[in-house]
Order: sequence, then C-alpha cells, then structure tokens
Amino acid sequence: MQQPIETEAIVIATRDFAESDRLITLFTPEHGKIETIAKGAKKSLHRFVNALEPFSFLDASLVMPRATGFTRLDSVKIKMSFEALRQDFLSFTAANLCCELIHRWTKEMDPHIDIFRNLLYYLNCLSQKQDIYKLTLFFKLRLLALVGYAPELQFCVKCGNKPTGNSVTIEQHGKGVLCSSCAEKEDSAQQIQMGTLYCLRHLSIRSAKEVMRLKPSPQQLAEGWNTAKKLHCLHLKTIPNSYAVLETMINVSTNL
Ligand SMILES: [Zn+2]
Repeated sequence: MQQPIETEAIVIATRDFAESDRLITLFTPEHGKIETIAKGAKKSLHRFVNALEPFSFLDASLVMPRATGFTRLDSVKIKMSFEALRQDFLSFTAANLCCELIHRWTKEMDPHIDIFRNLLYYLNCLSQKQDIYKLTLFFKLRLLALVGYAPELQFCVKCGNKPTGNSVTIEQHGKGVLCSSCAEKEDSAQQIQMGTLYCLRHLSIRSAKEVMRLKPSPQQLAEGWNTAKKLHCLHLKTIPNSYAVLETMINVSTNL
C-alpha cells in the first residue's frame, strides 16, 4: 500500500463529483496546488468532520495516484476553519476571489511556499475584519509579484525616467508606468493619479504592518483596485468569475 503524504493545506475550491464524492482543490506549501477527491464526502458530512469548506486550513493526508487519476484525500484535521469568513458574504467573496486567482495562476504540483504564506496571512487578517478592500488589493499586488508579473511602478518602462506630474499612465501590456512624453505615443493606456501610484508602490513593497497603517483615499483605492484587476486579467487572459460578485458587493456597501 502506498504511503500517504502528510501536508498542511488550504481549501481553495470545492465541487461535487459523481454521486457521493467531492473534488477539493488544495493549496499546499510543498506541493503547490493539488486536485483531490474526497470519497463519500457528499453523502456523509461526518466522514471529513465538515473540514472541506472553502478556506479551511488543514493538516491533510493524501494518497497520490499510482498512474493517472485524482489524488485521494485520505483524512484531514482542521488547524483553523476561518468560519468567520463564511458567515460574512463580503469577506467570503473577497477570499473567494483570492483563491480563484491562485487557482488560475498556478499549476498542479508546482510549489510556491510564498503564495501559501501570503494566502494564510490574508485569510487571518480578513477573519479579523480588517479593511477588506485594501487588504485584498494588497494580496493581489503581492500575488502579481510572486508569480513574476510585478509592474514597474518607479520608473518609466520605455525610457527609464521617473514620471512626474499629477497623473501617470499605465503601459497597455501591464509592464508598468510611462512618463508623460512616452505616454503620448501610446494608444490605449490607462491613467491613474500620482497619489494612487504612491499607494500602489506602498502596498507592493512595504511590510504588512506598515501597509495596515496606510490610509488611502476612496479614489486611490478604487483606481488601485482597477489597476490591479486589469493587470491580473491582462496576464491571465480572462476575467476571474469572482470579480463580478465582489464588485456588486463593493458598490452596494458603504463601509469599505
Ligand atoms: Zn518614458
């Protein structure tokens, strides 16, 4: 019999499969993303003691397939359930977006320990009801950097000069900012306020503790959000499904 692999894992997606099983996508520190099958999970909630909810942080025991097929989820133990995130629809949708982004950005069995740590940190902060909008933007910018697509926010990506003025242009392929003279030669580029650029820089490079002290204006947050969204969508070549739900929530919510 095959020896199970013991690993920490966060549930980033779940769906029903066949009559009684569920497919659980886990994100693990040493193996990256793993699609697993939880046999009997749909019929018997006791089999996995309700541990297979979205965002659950687990100790999991996995049995890899001999040749092809799914990795089997043998047993799990909850380390942190992050129940609070599933009780608040806005937190749930924000966490769902971040899990979907990780799902889309990563391949199976491709380890990214920093992404795992980043997700765990984000879920922890989110469950303490910290500023959801800012926190999620922070997560999205860090994720871009961790997958190798951090935009250049300091110097013009065409000529290397430092952009000046009240606003700055984002280069159309998402590489970073353009100075005003290089921006004149671009057709379809997005402009943001200089204050938003400072905010994005701050969120990208400062420590999490410093970031939590940052108080961006609603306009800076909105522009920063749209910029980070555009960069993710541009590089992923798709719009993650969770955006539509989350943005409806943001529009109707006044306490962000
Ligand atoms: Zn330039």
